This record gives sequence, C-alpha cells and structure tokens, in this order.
Amino acid sequence: MRRPSVVVVGGGALGMEVASGCLQAGCSVTLVSDAPPLTRQLGGFLSGVFVAAATRRGLRLVSGTRARIADSGSGPRVVLADGTELEAELIVSAIGDEPNVSWLAGTGLLVGGELRVDSRGRVRPDIVAAGDVASIPARQGTGRVPLWISAIEQAKAAALGLLLGDRAPALDFQPYFWTEAFGVSLKSVGFTPVEGIPGYWEPGADEESMLVRWENRDGTGTAAALNYRIPVPKLRRLANTGPAVQVAV
Ligand SMILES: Cc1cc2nc3c(=O)[nH]c(=O)nc-3n(C[C@H](O)[C@H](O)[C@H](O)COP(=O)(O)OP(=O)(O)OC[C@H]3O[C@@H](n4cnc5c(N)ncnc54)[C@H](O)[C@@H]3O)c2cc1C
Repeated sequence: MRRPSVVVVGGGALGMEVASGCLQAGCSVTLVSDAPPLTRQLGGFLSGVFVAAATRRGLRLVSGTRARIADSGSGPRVVLADGTELEAELIVSAIGDEPNVSWLAGTGLLVGGELRVDSRGRVRPDIVAAGDVASIPARQGTGRVPLWISAIEQAKAAALGLLLGDRAPALDFQPYFWTEAFGVSLKSVGFTPVEGIPGYWEPGADEESMLVRWENRDGTGTAAALNYRIPVPKLRRLANTGPAVQVAV
C-alpha cells in the first residue's frame, strides 16, 4: 500500500482528524496551524491534551504560522510565513468554511455579510433561516454554530418561529460536540472554548481518561469526557448542575 507524505493545513477538528487518520495509516504527517491546534475551538487545556497525544504518536506540528500554497510547475508546495517550503505528496486543506450567502446579496437580508436570525430563527417575521448559514444569538454572543445538532435544533425553532411567531419557544441552544483523534475521544457539552484549567476533575480508568468541568464566566458550565465512557444525558447534567450530582458510570 502506498503511504504518501502528507501536509495538513489547519488545526481545527477536521484537520486533526485527517492528520490522525493519515498517521494511523502509516503516512508521515505534518500539520500546519496558525494557532495551537484546537485552541480556538476548545481552549488551551483540551488543545494541550490532543497536541500531547498527537506529538507522542509522531505528528510533526508546525504551529504559529500561516501557510499558503505555491506551485511553480513542479507540483504544489505549502509555504510558511518565513518562506520555509514543505513538500508533500498529499496536501490537505482544512482551514474552515464560509457560508454561501452570495446569492442573498442585494436582498437586504444580510447584516455585515451575515444572515442573522433572532432566537426563533427569524430573519424577519416571514423569513427564517437555520443551520450553518445562520448567525444565532447565544449567551456567548451572536455567531454561527456549524455543528449538525445545532442545525437540527435551529431548524425546529425556525419552523415554530415561522408558524407561531413570538409564541414559539426561543432557542436556548447548548452545544454538544465530539471528536476523535490520536487515540483521544472527546465528548463535550456546553460552550467552548473554555478558559484555564477545569475546576472539577475526575480521573478515569487510565492515564488518558478523565471527566472534567469548567464553570464559565457567564454562569454556564462546560463538561468534557476524554476517553471516558459516559452517556450524553449524564454529561449534560454534569455541565448544567456541576459535580454535586456525582455521575455514576
Ligand atoms: C468534512 C466535514 C465534517 C464534519 N463533521 C462534523 C461532525 O463530526 N459533527 C458535527 O456536529 N458537525 C460536523 N460537520 C458540520 C455539519 O456537517 C454541519 O453543521 C451541517 O451539515 C449543517 O447543516 P446545514 O443543513 O446547515 O448545511 P449543509 O449540510 O452544508 O447543507 C446545505 C445545503 O445547501 C446547498 N446549497 C448551498 N447554497 C445553495 C443555493 N444557493 N441554492 C441551493 N442549494 C444551496 C448545499 O449544496 C448543501 O446541500 C462537518 C462538516 C464537514 C464539512
């Protein structure tokens, strides 16, 4: 089996999952990320867990620099900000997505280029939007939450918003996220990125296994299970009510 050398550009969940899969398949893998992988999405603590597992398993990490692609005829190369060139047989871009809103240009529905909805999914009383394209109001500010459970919850809220108007229940979305890379399986409930170290920490069956919780500044909680088997409703309870309700596994 051929095992091409790989450069992955982008240290979000997708970039890390792709890099992990390629490494597991026996490829030599370099990941380039402008910030430490997963910091923006999850915060420094959880990023550190994944980065430690990744480097232990042989990932070459180039962090703190932006990359661009150059091709002078001999094939594409990844070029770093300082001019360093990285060659690879396979280059994977995982630098994020942009919502397709260009078809709405000139309709007056966009605010600053965004499709903003209220807590009932309404752009205006007779138009709703849901999913990755929509910027939704949440406790931590207005923004897109490009996750499929968010899309489902938004769609339900938007349908009711269209039918019932202000009588529809407002969306009170609590993020649920999972990813698996470099032997670390993460499930998290609550807003991320989380700041600092967790206030609650319960070790699991082995060194890489733990259940943790942060009390966020806005009074909400975020709970994360790392290589720790726990049903999502229990993880949700831990996020919402804290460790006083001890979780039994
Ligand atoms: C590689 C990848 C991996 C992911 N992994 C996860 C994961 O593990 N967990 C998770 O929660 N989320 C994950 N996501 C995010 C998840 O897929 C999205 O949050 C979810 O699909 C959003 O649903 P949506 O209906 O809003 O948008 P989409 O699923 O993107 O559907 C939008 C549809 O609209 C179509 N469209 C766009 N513009 C127009 C137009 N002008 N006219 C007609 N049709 C149009 C598109 O072609 C598309 O079919 C992943 C995304 C990607 C790309």
